[in-house]
Amino acid sequence: MVDELAAVDAYATVAAATVLESVREGLVLDRTIFYPRGGGQPGDTGVIRWAGGQVRVTDTVRRGGRPVHVVEGEPPAAGSPVEAEIDWPRRYLLMRTHTALHALSAIIWRDFDAKVTGGNMEPGTARMDFELEGISVEFGRQVEACLNEELAADHPVEILFLRRDEALADPDLIRTKVNLLPESIDPIRVVHIVGLDKQADGGTHVASTSEVGRVRVTRTESKGKANKRIRIEVE
Ligand SMILES: [Zn+2]
Repeated sequence: MVDELAAVDAYATVAAATVLESVREGLVLDRTIFYPRGGGQPGDTGVIRWAGGQVRVTDTVRRGGRPVHVVEGEPPAAGSPVEAEIDWPRRYLLMRTHTALHALSAIIWRDFDAKVTGGNMEPGTARMDFELEGISVEFGRQVEACLNEELAADHPVEILFLRRDEALADPDLIRTKVNLLPESIDPIRVVHIVGLDKQADGGTHVASTSEVGRVRVTRTESKGKANKRIRIEVE
């Protein structure tokens, strides 16, 4: 079992670890603060240092249930003590972007009864698709104003670990189809933007919505009937 520290502390930037295994795709550490790509959030990048040198981490992916650090260069041998540091400005921007997306999905659900059909993010930019019948530039402006108002309201963001039966019974979690998660997942990690949004999620988030700052709706697009796209940018 790898100790995945990003799940409980998104603000850790550097951590000591030991190399468990060097696999074809990269390095497996016994504990890591690197977030492996998933749930629409890109994997972390950074650097792994040890007594004999250092390697760049160009991506982090999940393989066989474990985070694998994709590295450039000659990796340290299994058993080596290392220090792993994430590229913090990039990760922090991803945290702000990810929390902005959750706030956006909450507003569209609350004010327009529309569910999310898909989404993706890069550091600072993101898109999300909704089960909306129509969309317009005016709608985008309205959503942008509402989103910025909610973000500025400084809602705390809590990470909860709920027992599966507890999560399935939570009416706030039903909309995000928590029942579709594999049965083996228990407890279920939940990201709760207090007073705004609650969803099962593995990603890294800021501690309060005010940390997101201002967000712009950069584009609204129709991707078909009952499928409308909103693109955002974190300023
Ligand atoms: Zn998420």
